[in-house]
Amino acid sequence: MTAEDHKNEGKIDRGRYAEERRVQEKMAAVEAEDSKTYFSRELLIWYDRSKRDLPWRRHRDPYFIWVSEIMLQQTRVDTVIPYFNRFIERFPTIRDLAEAPQEDVVKMWEGLGYYSRARNLQAAAQQIVELHGGQMPSEREHVFALKGVGPYTAGAILSIAFNRPEPAVDGNVLRVLSRYFLIEDDIAKPKTRIMMEKMIPELIPEGRASDFNQALMELGALICTPKSPHCLICPVMEHCRGRIEGRERDLPVKTKAKKPRPEQRLAVLLEGSGERAGRVLVRRRPNTGLLAGMWELPHVAAGGEDLGLDAAQLGELLEDRGLSWSPMSPYMTAEHTFSHIHWTMRVLIAREEPEALAQLAAESGVPYEAAVPEAAELDGAEGIANDGADEEWRWISREDMSAIAFPNLFLNILNKYFSGEGEQE
Ligand code: SF4
Repeated sequence: MTAEDHKNEGKIDRGRYAEERRVQEKMAAVEAEDSKTYFSRELLIWYDRSKRDLPWRRHRDPYFIWVSEIMLQQTRVDTVIPYFNRFIERFPTIRDLAEAPQEDVVKMWEGLGYYSRARNLQAAAQQIVELHGGQMPSEREHVFALKGVGPYTAGAILSIAFNRPEPAVDGNVLRVLSRYFLIEDDIAKPKTRIMMEKMIPELIPEGRASDFNQALMELGALICTPKSPHCLICPVMEHCRGRIEGRERDLPVKTKAKKPRPEQRLAVLLEGSGERAGRVLVRRRPNTGLLAGMWELPHVAAGGEDLGLDAAQLGELLEDRGLSWSPMSPYMTAEHTFSHIHWTMRVLIAREEPEALAQLAAESGVPYEAAVPEAAELDGAEGIANDGADEEWRWISREDMSAIAFPNLFLNILNKYFSGEGEQE
């Protein structure tokens, strides 16, 4: 073979190689296309057959979709259903929600946690009344402008209620897409979410945005579950790359969130006496910050080592309200985790006492007891003391529990107390 022949052969090999690559790339593109079409088609067939009958799915009312989506964030469907039904019964329209006292809205949310969501929901309802005549807007920029509405909720409202091909990417969707397309990017990173948001409109079949997004969430909730995906009964198993590669349990990749910061707190359950017998003292939290505007037992940060010092600090709170009380004794300990804090709440119990009795107790040197207060007055027949600003104190009975909103931690403590189940430690 001449040098010229070698040269020509090299050219032919390179040409053949390039052609093979082109064919392979084309096949991969066709396969990817097929796997996307297959995914959307099979997912919708499955959803049409097996979707759950949920109260907010019975009408395509944007208000119902909106409320349900806010409630469903971080909460299971089974838990949300009774809350949703009660909420809609109490506030049947956006206008009803906008015009209700905030206390009522938070009360209807009691037990769901993340109470700023309830307050934002009401603030957004007020925006809708003011700017859109009480009707949920259907324009993207108007939905995004509502208080407490982020990309996920906006996408859910626009797609589910108005059938717009908008992405609504929640944890379920991130998990399903990571597994199906074998995406190994960290789903805790915003760029991964943005990448998936860009994928969704390509997957939505013409005119089926509402069903498609719900189907995707439903698959994540029922079949492609976090710990044990049910691949054998999954409608899209055939082309699922995560399953084919045996990686379904490793995906999605997610870096761990920071552990909540532990915090010790000391609370007092002060029982009323005389005309306040049968009531306990509670206070309302400030209107901003953690658990804003909700009711609770008075409590202070606790150092953990010297309970006497912490109890004295707690006593100062009561003194400032002109109260005197019997010696405090340990009642119970309760725990609660917020997204960034873990509270261990030690609860002491004491009874309101006339000043002279409290003085006697003070002199007897009983532990955890604080000084007798200066004379001061409690306002109102129910002994409501208002400290000014947005702090409010009340003596409440068991019946009052249904009218004011408590975070779960205090709800549990007070329910135990009023039902007589609580035990002294
Ligand atoms: S086959 Fe398995 S991993 Fe893939 S989407 Fe279905 S349940 Fe999830």
